[in-house]
Amino acid sequence: MATVFTKIINGEIPSYKIAEDENFIAFLDINPNAKGHTLCVPKQEVDKIFDLGEHVYLQLMQFSRKVALALRKAVPCERVGMAVIGLEVPHVHVHLIPINEMKDMTFDHKVTLSEAEFKELAAEISSHIS
Ligand code: AMP
Repeated sequence: MATVFTKIINGEIPSYKIAEDENFIAFLDINPNAKGHTLCVPKQEVDKIFDLGEHVYLQLMQFSRKVALALRKAVPCERVGMAVIGLEVPHVHVHLIPINEMKDMTFDHKVTLSEAEFKELAAEISSHIS
């Protein structure tokens, strides 16, 4: 069965999209640790990051860096934290999280955003993608 992220990639379910190219997509995490929490996802449906081929893995890092640089311009923060977990969705994704303190990287600390805030954030981050 297709993962929820493949459904997003295929346009079957909505997302707050930030960037997309032939092989990768970035969109806002729907249950964010912090404002601007973004997921970078390869379109290839692979569960575990270190099972990606080396080339796709390196491309994912390159894509994630591009998104992180845009994120840091759009959302004031101390730095952008990066994590790979994958216990909930078995489809590789890099979490990019604007952080100011350690708790922003803990996945039991969540913030609530309205649909309007998600839309505005996605547009703002997207506008800084080079
Ligand atoms: P994990 O697999 O443990 O790295 O966590 C999966 C992440 O995907 C969580 O932070 C979820 O909030 C996020 N997530 C799950 N479904 C969606 C969705 N439809 N749109 C955006 N983010 C999602």
